[in-house]
Parts: sequence; C-alpha cells; structure tokens
Amino acid sequence: MGKRKKAAKKPSQPRRRAPLDTAFTCLFCHHDKSVTVRVDRKEGIAQLVCRVCDQRYQSKVNHLTEPVDIYSEWIDAADAAQHDAPAVRPAAASSSRPVAAAASDDDSDDD
Ligand SMILES: [Zn+2]
Repeated sequence: MGKRKKAAKKPSQPRRRAPLDTAFTCLFCHHDKSVTVRVDRKEGIAQLVCRVCDQRYQSKVNHLTEPVDIYSEWIDAADAAQHDAPAVRPAAASSSRPVAAAASDDDSDDD
C-alpha cells in the first residue's frame, strides 16, 4: 500500500467581501441576472437597469436601502403599471355570466 489519496477536501473558500446581490432576474425579458441595481447613496438615488431589454427604473434611497429593495420596488411599480394599463390580456373567464340586462325597453303598456 503506497499512496492513498486523501479525501479531497474542499479548500476553504477565500473570504471575499461579497457585496449584496445586485443582479436580479428581469421581469420583462426574464433573463437571469440581467438586472443590475446601483445604489448611489451620495446622490440618494438608485438606478436599476436591465442590460438585456433596457428596462430602467430609478428610485430614491436612504442609508438602509439595499439593491434588493429597489428591485422589489420595481416589481411593485411594474405590477401597478400593468394593472393601470388597459386590459389587453384575455379575461380569464371565471365569471362569464351575462350582464344583467337593464329593464327591457319593451313598452308593455296595458290599457
Ligand atoms: Zn430585461
């Protein structure tokens, strides 16, 4: 018995100062990590941009704001915008009962 391979031990990962996640999935083009958020605390603004479809969003930040906060704000804003927009999508026919017709205009004048 000569050499025996030691169980490969995973080298401990170099400790790097991982910044918080700043790349997210785009709501619009659905590319993974195509959305980046830059928080500029000096200016007090954050800029979100999708490098694939060029969606942009800007918001104010404070010292506690993290990129993910901007991202969720963007989701909310996009969501709200979608609700505001005229419904283009086909109605999910859940209740397709006929509109209660207003009183028929049949003039039934007896007498
Ligand atoms: Zn996109």
